[in-house]
Amino acid sequence: MATSRRIFLRGAVASALAWPLGLHAQDAGSLSSRLFQHGVASGDPLPDRVMLWTRITSPPTRSAIGPIAVRWLVAEDEKLSRIVAQGDAPAAPERDFTVKVDAGGLRPGRQYFYAFDAGGQRSPIGRTKTLPADGATRLRLAIASCANYPAGYFNAYRGIANRTDLDLVLHLGDYIYEFADGVYGDSQSIGRAPLPAGEASTLADYRLRYAIYRSDPDLQEVHRVHPFVVVWDDHEIANDTWSGGAQNHGAAQGDWATRLAAAYRAYVEWLPIRETPGAGMRLYRDFRLGGLADLIMLDTRSTRDRQVVTGNLAELAGPRRTLLGAAQEAWLFDRLRTSTREGAPWRLLGQQMLFAALSPKGQPLTPDLWEGYPAARRRVLDFLAAEKIRDMAVLTGDLHSSWAVDVAPNPWGAAGAPDAQPIAVEVVTPAISSPPLFADAAFRAHVLQVRAGAPHVKYLSGDANGYVLLDVTRDRLQADYFVVPTVRTHLDMESRAARFICERGSARLVSA
Ligand code: FE
Ligand code: CA
Repeated sequence: MATSRRIFLRGAVASALAWPLGLHAQDAGSLSSRLFQHGVASGDPLPDRVMLWTRITSPPTRSAIGPIAVRWLVAEDEKLSRIVAQGDAPAAPERDFTVKVDAGGLRPGRQYFYAFDAGGQRSPIGRTKTLPADGATRLRLAIASCANYPAGYFNAYRGIANRTDLDLVLHLGDYIYEFADGVYGDSQSIGRAPLPAGEASTLADYRLRYAIYRSDPDLQEVHRVHPFVVVWDDHEIANDTWSGGAQNHGAAQGDWATRLAAAYRAYVEWLPIRETPGAGMRLYRDFRLGGLADLIMLDTRSTRDRQVVTGNLAELAGPRRTLLGAAQEAWLFDRLRTSTREGAPWRLLGQQMLFAALSPKGQPLTPDLWEGYPAARRRVLDFLAAEKIRDMAVLTGDLHSSWAVDVAPNPWGAAGAPDAQPIAVEVVTPAISSPPLFADAAFRAHVLQVRAGAPHVKYLSGDANGYVLLDVTRDRLQADYFVVPTVRTHLDMESRAARFICERGSARLVSA
């Protein structure tokens, strides 16, 4: 489409420019002529509604400004002539001038177009889609995680944006990285500076970090054309987050609860999530996908116990260790049970870290994975077995690599043993632009050695960036692993690296 091509070319230049805070006073005029510099987005679609998002780009003197009047509209056509919903939603400084609207009264399984008006200007025109009503015959999702702005261009987001047939994009976290410039990707190598230059730890820091990421033309475009369902991982907060702290949090970053609250607030300001008033920091939620699948989104970060120190097997084995927290775990079990009883063909778990076990001795690859919480993992496996819950796919981010795995309670059990039979599958999506898992040669050798002893790992590729395309029909899941040739230059190119299929009832991924 001509529009997206134009944005693409302009964006290559725009992404090299400084954030508006660096502008001089005489630039304020041209600034006010571009109120929608962070684009538009949509998310958390339901059959009758969808969240719409935009932001009024704030001038340098934003503290002196009150709420700005914004009008939104949803139409059936791209020219916005057949309007089906509209209203007012002010952009307020208390929300960093972000605007979120829960646009209702829509029809299921329909494409819609939307835009915002403010100050005599119109935002880019967004495209979105409501979830289908029960009776859908197919769904197509793109799955993404781990986008590191200074480490690489968001070419993989561009690949997702180019698609015209997606129902939604699942984002499984590491949407931003909190690190200071140079810690994990640096602005010197490709000129993508992650403002603030220091580590993000305050509300102002996180907001600025989101603003920089959302200045990226590929990220703007993928948000403009597809609804997202997102959940955070650790780097929206701090590396290896747990409920009471993080590996990358110390006294210099102040009080943990304050930092976590700031990270959460900036996240829900900048992402098109439907917030539940009074529910605190709750991000877990579920979606009924056309009667074909139930999508269950988990937050494994703000609820988990602290990661154990590597090698501390006694602490690792603690029977009460939790990843989800009691409330979320009970909710998960209720959703899985209800989904099965209501006869949904598939259950999709959107979450962050590798669920499958890799070591027969229970020594996790890193203590941050589900294998680092064996009791919590065991409770899920026991529940699946006891309730005879089948046809579940765990959808995972975090690992910066592509995996297809069959999940069995004991994948090393004797052939024919009941607990050696797989009861779910797991699909791990590669990183959008973070350094791939195998970038470190020593770690690559270690992971491949672990993989050699894990017969249930059907596919592992840790050399490339990309995303997964997931097709869902009543009888099968199909996962296509797409990769981009590089993230060091800005280009629009991708190829399919692998295809795995899971026939319903099999709990096995098979190369196709
Ligand atoms: Fe990551
Ligand atoms: Ca992570």
